Amino acid sequence: MNLIEKLDAAAAVRKSLLPDGVGAFGIPIEEVYSATEARIGDRRVLLLGTNNYLGLTFSPECIQAAHEALDTEGTGTTGSRMANGSYSGHRALEQEFANFYECCTGIVFTTGYQANLGTISGLVGRGDTVLIDSDSHASIYDGCILSGAEIIRFRHNDMIDMEKRLRRLGDRTTTTLIIVEGIYSMLGDQAPLAEIVQLKNKYNCTLLLDEAHSLGVLGETGQGLVEKTGLLKEIDFITGTFSKSLCSIGGFCVSNHPQLDQLRYISHPYIFTASPSPATIASTRAALKLLRNGSNLRKQLWKNCTQLYTHLNTVGYKLGPEPGPVIAAILDNPRQALQLWHGLLEHNIYVNLILPPAAPDGKSLVRCSVNAAHTNEQIAHVGATFEKLYQQFLAA
Ligand code: PMP
Repeated sequence: MNLIEKLDAAAAVRKSLLPDGVGAFGIPIEEVYSATEARIGDRRVLLLGTNNYLGLTFSPECIQAAHEALDTEGTGTTGSRMANGSYSGHRALEQEFANFYECCTGIVFTTGYQANLGTISGLVGRGDTVLIDSDSHASIYDGCILSGAEIIRFRHNDMIDMEKRLRRLGDRTTTTLIIVEGIYSMLGDQAPLAEIVQLKNKYNCTLLLDEAHSLGVLGETGQGLVEKTGLLKEIDFITGTFSKSLCSIGGFCVSNHPQLDQLRYISHPYIFTASPSPATIASTRAALKLLRNGSNLRKQLWKNCTQLYTHLNTVGYKLGPEPGPVIAAILDNPRQALQLWHGLLEHNIYVNLILPPAAPDGKSLVRCSVNAAHTNEQIAHVGATFEKLYQQFLAA
């Protein structure tokens, strides 16, 4: 079989597993009307599958900042941060992230994916160890593979399993990087950060926390799980993305170790790619200000999350362990998940379909992402539709 035929074979396997499922992935959104509504095909749909947690994609402040940057700095930097792609805006945003997290330094990357790839592969290498949660995002796995460090996984949020693996490492723990997430992207649950910090200190490891889904969502000023738990000073490195609450694209790492700056000279995902466009940086800077002062948005977001989680739970859906902006219905198999996903779209509700191997432990998920711009009526309508479909497809 040649390389092209191998791709045909992979496509055939996918089609045989899920004959009607091919169109469910990457479905085009034709027009976007607001943070909560868009057109897919000829349907006006309610958006419940975006990561736009604070609902800021159409905020006038962000749009105006992006317009101004386009007018004054052009469409793109056309180069890497190491060459011609460091503008004053990139540096200013790095400083703003460092200030936000009360850290001494910060680095901006072109995507959140690259923030993890670049930070992890810059911090550890051959001979070092990474100890990661088994539900980690692909960017964490890929960063670990790129680094060449030995990868050890512990069972999701299982501190007994984590300590067992730390004990086995013996004196190698000083060159071990523990990586966890604030809110996990698949089931929406939070890391037990206090216990993780305790173990990190007991075994002298280094700790990296990815706040991709928790930035803007947790804590009084939206720092994430570090703020909710009061553990900011205990974390060595925090990564995050601009593509969720900050509603643009890009990523960052902040730290109180000034040595983080060395990554600018060694980290390939930072060096060998073009920097974020000026408009992206400008809208992210505007969004960060709104996020810091967004406690009312966070209140509305949590009201919406709790309303939907409680409704789906009462109906009988199997859900992730706690409410949050990511609410995943766990289905028994891919066919059931596809049926529910199609049913929701037929009722003009767009959510995410996540099937193995993308979901952990072979799970099939229909994942909702709630945002602060959803109205109570929209959330109630989503809950009622899930309820109707449960009776139709899932009730025994
Ligand atoms: N980390 C986590 C936990 C994520 O869920 C994601 C994206 N879903 C990323 C990093 C990557 O971010 P981006 O999509 O902005 O590249």
